[in-house]
Amino acid sequence: MDSPAPHIRPDLDSLPAYVPGRDFPGAIKLASNETTLGPLPEVAAAVAEAVTTANRYPDNGARALVTALSEFLGVPPHHVAVGCGSVSLCQELVQLTCDEGDEVVFAWRSFEAYPIVTRVAGAVPVQVPLDADFGHDLPAMLDAITDRTRLVFVCNPNNPTGRSLGRAELEKFLDAVPAHVVVALDEAYFEYHRWADPAEGTDGVALARGRANVVVLRTFSKAYGLAGIRVGYAVADPAIVTALSKVHIPFSVSAPAQAAAIASLAASDALLARTDGVVAERDRVRTGLVEAGYTVPDSDANFVYLPLGERSSAYADAAAQAGLLLRPYGNDGVRVTVGDPHENDRFLAFAATAEVRTL
Ligand code: PMP
Repeated sequence: MDSPAPHIRPDLDSLPAYVPGRDFPGAIKLASNETTLGPLPEVAAAVAEAVTTANRYPDNGARALVTALSEFLGVPPHHVAVGCGSVSLCQELVQLTCDEGDEVVFAWRSFEAYPIVTRVAGAVPVQVPLDADFGHDLPAMLDAITDRTRLVFVCNPNNPTGRSLGRAELEKFLDAVPAHVVVALDEAYFEYHRWADPAEGTDGVALARGRANVVVLRTFSKAYGLAGIRVGYAVADPAIVTALSKVHIPFSVSAPAQAAAIASLAASDALLARTDGVVAERDRVRTGLVEAGYTVPDSDANFVYLPLGERSSAYADAAAQAGLLLRPYGNDGVRVTVGDPHENDRFLAFAATAEVRTL
């Protein structure tokens, strides 16, 4: 007699697993918004040192890292939580806000993990189309909030389109969201944002001050170059920080990860100086693409977006043939991470060829 198959939630059948950027040896990887430069020597040394005590569990509360973040950000330590990448904090926020059937509102397209973590928690994703300029349509997001809404993700700058929000519209939105609905300002690409006028700055940590329902999410994966080591953080009201600690997978931020993040904060001047080079290259890549005839939305992140519609997957396949890994998004567009000047030259040369432009 056949033994019955183990029971697995049937609703997972229709849920796609998170699909990471492709990779193959020798390829130029412009698919995952990583940095091209590796960790600083002092960061690598801190990781090596932390590995020597890998027989012990890490500090579950990451107290030294929380203290370092609190000093770096100018917020009290009990407003800071860390997670195994900010993606785990996204998941934890859904878990701590939503019961089954509750709703999570976010723009679409945006970060691909939002619908996944929502559905895994048994909650319902409510996707609000981007506006014509590929940015968040905040009035429509406000309209999408119902009695069942528990959480809103605002991705600023938005992945994958790179568009960001102005201060006045963001503040107006935050003021209008009902106080019991948590708003997660996902600022994974914050460090690549440059404001012509500092008064226009949308630093979520400043915006969250005095707003008990606003959570800021940031990561060490992008500007700090630690994608492989998995650390992100949240800045929030202590009630949310306490709830995060309850849904957190114990010990999921390893000791080497905590050490790497502390050493990176200590070296933040050097690491943030690297972002200037990425920003200059981003603007060069965008200009090159526009000159080659592409439509390219302005980007405040370390990538640019090509709204190629139905041509998107053929375009990414042709790039892969040419040794360039890009990130296609269904029939919407292709995201291209800004690499180093040589990598960007390779991509621009690919993009400029006549056959490719008409793909
Ligand atoms: N938020 C956004 C908008 C992202 O693009 C990413 C990474 N792609 C994350 C969060 C998660 O980053 P990590 O888990 O590496 O910190």
